[in-house]
Formats: sequence, C-alpha cells, structure tokens
Amino acid sequence: MKKSNLQLAVVGTMQTNCYLLTNTETNETLIVDPGADGDRIAAYLLQEKMRPVGILLTHGHFDHISGVKALQDAFRLPVYAAEAEEALLGEPGWNLSAKFQGYSVSLVPDVLLADGEGFELAGFSVKAILTPGHTGGGMSYYLPEEGFVFSGDTLFRHTYGRTDLPTSSFEELKHSLREKLFKLPEDTEVLPGHGNATTIKEERRRNPVLGD
Ligand SMILES: [Zn+2]
Repeated sequence: MKKSNLQLAVVGTMQTNCYLLTNTETNETLIVDPGADGDRIAAYLLQEKMRPVGILLTHGHFDHISGVKALQDAFRLPVYAAEAEEALLGEPGWNLSAKFQGYSVSLVPDVLLADGEGFELAGFSVKAILTPGHTGGGMSYYLPEEGFVFSGDTLFRHTYGRTDLPTSSFEELKHSLREKLFKLPEDTEVLPGHGNATTIKEERRRNPVLGD
C-alpha cells in the first residue's frame, strides 16, 4: 500500500481548502487549489522538506488560484486544470479576482486536461473528471487508490456550489453530480473546496440536488 499524508490548509478570505497530498516514501507533494497564502505554503513546504511536484486546480476562481504565483516563484511547478477552464483562468472578470480581490489574477495552465484523462503525479494515480456547473470547466480529481476525490466547489457537504456566476449552469451542475460524482464508489471520501469533508454515500442520501 502506498503511504500518503493528506494535510489541509484553510486559506484566504473565502476560507478555501488548500490540500497538500504527500507521498511519504518520496516526500513528493501535490498541491490542490492554493487559493491564497502562497508564500506561507511555500515556506511550510521548505520547512518540512516536502518536494512539491505540481498544482491541481479544481477551477479558476480567484480564491482557488491566487497562491499559485508565489508557489511557482519558489518552485518549478506545472499547473494542471481543465482545458474547458482555460478562458476563465485567464480572464479576471470571469475568475472574479477583479471584483472581489482588489487585484487581478490571470493564469495560464501548463497541462490542460480532458474529461476522463488519467495521469500520475507524486506517485499517485489521478483521474480527471470534468464536473462543470459551478464553472464551465470545473474539474474533480479522483484518486482511486487513496479512495478520495477533490471536488472543488462542485460538491460540498450537504450542498453544492453557486451557479449564478460567469460560465455557471445549474443544469450542468446537476448532471455532474448525479451522473458523475455520485457514480463513484460510495465509500469515496469527498474533499471539497470549502467546508468539511463528506462521503459519496452521505451525499447520495442527503444532498439537496437530488430533490431538485
Ligand atoms: Zn468557486
């Protein structure tokens, strides 16, 4: 069995969940959604002698991407995101940085992912599952061997992400939850972009999207 260590940092004014997943055999770490505090995260990684190898973005909103630059300045790190999110990542009016953050952020990802694409990072097998709705290129990252999925702002514990923002669609969100995330094994742990973790089993029972 692979040894993995998952750590959570809650960052920024939106209290975004930034996850650090470390392979304890190699100290290689992947970073999910460094939404703020990039300098602080970089200092922590150095202090703990972790070796960051890549950044996974669940979507392009400012509160999930604004720590990327400081991490890239500290380390050489490829940024992974959905191909369908490329325009939003580059457009401050769409990623809401201009409106809510007071300074604009725009980002060009290094690796553009398609729905269903599998890849290896830090020794972990990752499957990219396109889950649009909150944004048009929302991507969830499923790690079958670890038994969890990073769901971004698509799926939260007992709720789901807003669909009144640029490129949002409630119809797409419903489809992403019902036909994609809820089809994962029921004991899969869901690690969302904000708030507490949950499981697919719990959300299949309790998530209000099933009632709409
Ligand atoms: Zn968002």
